[in-house]
Amino acid sequence: MNTNETRHILSLSGGKDSSALAVYMRGKVPGMEYVFCDTGKELAETYEYLAKLEAFLGQRIVRLNDDRGFDHWLRIYAGYLPSSRTRWCTRQLKLKPFEKYVGEDEVVSYVGIRADEDREGYISTKPNIKARFPFREDGIAHADVLRILDEAGLGLPDYYKWRSRSGCYFCFFQRKAEWVGLLKHHPDLYEEAKKYEKIDPETGERYTWAQGESLEDIARPERLVQIRSRSGGLGKKQEASRALVDVLGSEDDDDGDQACTICSV
Ligand code: SF4
Repeated sequence: MNTNETRHILSLSGGKDSSALAVYMRGKVPGMEYVFCDTGKELAETYEYLAKLEAFLGQRIVRLNDDRGFDHWLRIYAGYLPSSRTRWCTRQLKLKPFEKYVGEDEVVSYVGIRADEDREGYISTKPNIKARFPFREDGIAHADVLRILDEAGLGLPDYYKWRSRSGCYFCFFQRKAEWVGLLKHHPDLYEEAKKYEKIDPETGERYTWAQGESLEDIARPERLVQIRSRSGGLGKKQEASRALVDVLGSEDDDDGDQACTICSV
């Protein structure tokens, strides 16, 4: 799209904050575009939630993909799994597709960072893309986000029962308890994530998603018991009564600076 007028774009991650922002901004900005940068490695619950959000907004959420996908980029990066230090996944699969969609147009990009978060996030630095933070401007905090989604009849995406943020099923930002949640709720995806882990036969170096421990190790029965008892957030009771985001809410904020702001708030 090429236009002389400033475009207004709200990036959705399928997570609670950007979704609440979409609800909050509905009707406030004429011509608002909604986009979702799809890595192709998202959870089914994310797509389900986006469909609900589309119905609520009465507007299509444009899916942006990098045509080559995660596995292509993994080969380019010589099999090095992305990590918080080498986050090529966000750059290639989220930021670049977003920047391609924007082109050279002047754009206001609406970002769902809340007033109670102390971070800038990982966002595009192209000069034609100006970020706006309406929640920060208006003092909208965590509890407000939950209320906004509740009042819209959307609630939280289902994965919040066992995971504290949106994103790829194998995201390295997951805590051990969240990997245990993936194993329980999506054992097939856990197996898929396992296939990406490797030990270099020459150097013995381990390429694992979680720090210092392979998914094979995490899935050992005694380790599962240990992680569950330490987390305190994934027991049956908690799952039944409240979302993990409530249990781990503050931790979510602690390392939130690391998350894909363009797509995971
Ligand atoms: S969700 Fe995690 S794995 Fe996926 S692109 Fe973002 S940082 Fe990378």
